[in-house]
Formats: sequence, C-alpha cells, structure tokens
Amino acid sequence: KSHYQVVIAGGGTGGLTVAAQLMDQPNPPEVALIEPSTVHYYQPLWTLVGGGVFPREQSARPEADYIPPGVTWIKEAVKAFDPDANSLTLSNGETITYDYLVVALGIQIDWGKIKGLPETLGKNGVCSNYSYDTVEYTWQNIRTFRGGNAVFTHPSTPIKCGGAPQKIVYLADDYFRRSGARQQSKLNFYHAGTAIFAVKKYADALNRVVARKGIDVHYQHDLIEVRGEAREAVFMNLATKETVTVHFDMLHVTPPMSAPDVIKSSKLAHTTGWVEVDKHTLQHVRYPNVFSLGDCSNLPTSKTGAAIRKQAPVLVANLMAAMANETLPATYDGYTSCPLVTGYGSLILAEFDYTNQPKESFPFDQSQERYSMYALKAYGLPAMYWNGMLRGRM
Ligand code: FAD
Repeated sequence: KSHYQVVIAGGGTGGLTVAAQLMDQPNPPEVALIEPSTVHYYQPLWTLVGGGVFPREQSARPEADYIPPGVTWIKEAVKAFDPDANSLTLSNGETITYDYLVVALGIQIDWGKIKGLPETLGKNGVCSNYSYDTVEYTWQNIRTFRGGNAVFTHPSTPIKCGGAPQKIVYLADDYFRRSGARQQSKLNFYHAGTAIFAVKKYADALNRVVARKGIDVHYQHDLIEVRGEAREAVFMNLATKETVTVHFDMLHVTPPMSAPDVIKSSKLAHTTGWVEVDKHTLQHVRYPNVFSLGDCSNLPTSKTGAAIRKQAPVLVANLMAAMANETLPATYDGYTSCPLVTGYGSLILAEFDYTNQPKESFPFDQSQERYSMYALKAYGLPAMYWNGMLRGRM
C-alpha cells in the first residue's frame, strides 16, 4: 500500500502524540507513521542522566509500544519530500502519497560543524548530554573530576531545550561541592548569546544562581574547534571576531543544531530551513494540506516537549477541520516550558509564550528554586509523558 489519508513523518515526541490524538477521534482517519528508529527516547531525562541521577536506559522504550493501534508503522526514513505531488520518497526508494502530511522530524545535531569534535567526543574529557551515546560520559567526567577547569558551551544556533546547556553546569557545581572538588575547580560557561535566558523574570533568578555558585559566564563566545588531546577549546568572540583558546579538564558541549537536511532541501522549508507554518494554526503557509509541529517547525518559540504538549491538540483540531473543509478552529499561543534544574533537588520552572511573558501553572512564584518542582521534573513529568502525553491523554 502506498497511499494514506494522513502521513506523519517522524515518530518522536510530536509524531507519536499527534498519532495518538488522531486515533482518539470519533472517526479516526487512516494514518501511517514513518519512523526508522525502533527505540523512542524521553530526552528531557538526559540532563539527569548526565548528572548521575538515573541510568540512561530509563530514558529509552521500544517505539513499537507507543505506535497507537490502527496506525501503520513504516520503518523507514524519509529521503525527500515532494509537496507539489503530495508525495515523499523513502530511504528504500519507495514512494508514499498522502492527502494530508504532518512533519515532525525533530532537530538535526550538527556535531561535524565543530572542527575536531566528532573525533574526540566521548574521550579526552569531551562529553555531551545531547545524545544517548554520549550522555553517560558526562556523568563519568563529573563523578571523577578532581579539580581544574570545567568548561560548558551553548552554541549560536537554535537548540532544543534552551535551558539544558546550563542545567548541567549547575548539577556539576553541586556535585563538585559534595565530592570536595569544587575548591580546586573553575566552572566556565561559554554562551554564544547575550543573556542567560530569554525571559527577564527567569534570567534575573538565574543570574542570582550563577553569582551564588561562583560560575563564570562568558557571553558571545561560540565554540568553533576542539583539540581533544591537547585539551583545548577554541571559541570565536562574536563581538570582536577574535579567537580565544581555553584549556579544559572536562568539556561539556552543546553542539550546533539545524533543521534536518531532508527538510532544508525541500519546498517545505522557510529560508531558515525549518518547516514554514503559520505560528497560530500550525498549517503550512504554502501547502494547506501540510502541518508541522515541534523542533523541525519554524514556530518562533523555545523548542521543547512541553511546547509540543500544547501544539499537538491544536494541530489535530485544525487537521480534522481541514479534512472536513471547515475553517481552522484552534490557535497555539507559543506556550513552552523549561524546567531549569539548579542543583540536586532544586528547580526553577520557567513557563512562557510568544510574548516572552511568564505563563505559570502553579499558584506560587516559579522563579524561586524549589524541591517540589525538581520532584515534578524527576518523577512526575516522565510518568506523565509515557502514560499520558504519548497515549494522547493530555
Ligand atoms: P524528536 O522527539 O526528536 O523526534 C524526531 C523523530 O524523527 C525521531 O524519532 C527521529 O528518529 C525521526 N526522524 C528523524 N529523521 C527522520 C527521517 N528522515 N525520516 C523519518 N523519521 C525521522 N523538553 C522539555 O519539554 N523539557 C525538558 O526538560 C527538556 N530537556 C531536554 C534535555 C536534553 C538534553 C535534550 C536533548 C532535549 C530536551 N528537551 C526537553 C527537548 C525535547 O526532547 C524535544 O523538544 C522534543 O523531543 C522534540 O520532539 P520532536 O517530535 O520535534 O522531535
């Protein structure tokens, strides 16, 4: 079979959530989901895996367990999109056609854009929470650190979970205090941007955390090269265009990211490479039978699973309406959330929308560090994800 009413490209957070919600409709459409991976990862856990709180296996479950009954799983990758012909090509060469398409391919990690990084990642103290393969090495580095210069980076490109690059700095600081390494250590956070966080209320709180912990933050510094054996990180000072070489004893890299190449090279892309959708309806601006959500879309909000939780019901309501030739009823306001772990047992829960104004769920000031919010992140949200969101229940 090569034609489906609805094709979902990508079975990650966005694709699985949309599939589950579509199958919950009174008259569900015929849906195929294209996803090559046999494992699905709850990536938000990787911050705590890198901090040694959970083993990495706890973030992984079989993809098959989360494909809703009734959905056809095509275990291939999309190789090319042809939206003018309502079709796409798979990595095995087959062509699939659709009436409606949902694009949810996530974000591409561009390790190779940093000179020397692929060769040294996973050794010489160079680690990253941004993949299942490298996240355990973060914890190994933190656990065995006996002093010296611990360096952390935040790139100049859009990334998923804008807070993750700094969460691991705070966990490392906390662990070094417990292990006795903190006094002999310097923590340096090189951030390509100009502020610690986009929303002022949380930025103010985080600046206080950084000052209290004695972390040195260097803005407008973008990692361009890693010399693993020499243990040197080379940064571009984006203000002066000078390069700065820094010795490290451990280096946590948040790599540059971009839209998946298969989207960049297709007619679905905006000039920035992301799928070009209306920021309120999630419908493609040129192809009305195409919708997109999550990290691969050009929705101008912070790329998180929490954002997808609010995007998915809007997408599904609008897709069902489009299929019935009705006007699109639902609107997404840019809601996103970032649980900013500030130590083992403390967390600032940032929640905001397109206006960059706080949009908090709890009846207290969420910019204060709290144990209750840490417990929510470590124990509550994973259960809500696996049992609720991916099952189409919230
Ligand atoms: P993904 O879930 O990444 O799924 C994309 C899917 O597309 C994958 O399954 C992939 O295999 C598939 N795919 C890729 N290419 C193709 C292709 N060519 N053809 C077919 N399929 C393809 N979010 C939060 O809300 N809170 C947090 O605290 C948080 N912390 C994070 C910490 C870290 C370290 C990381 C890495 C992420 C974190 N996130 C957090 C972000 C969150 O995980 C992502 O925003 C979310 O998973 C994005 O969902 P998605 O569906 O867009 O992409």
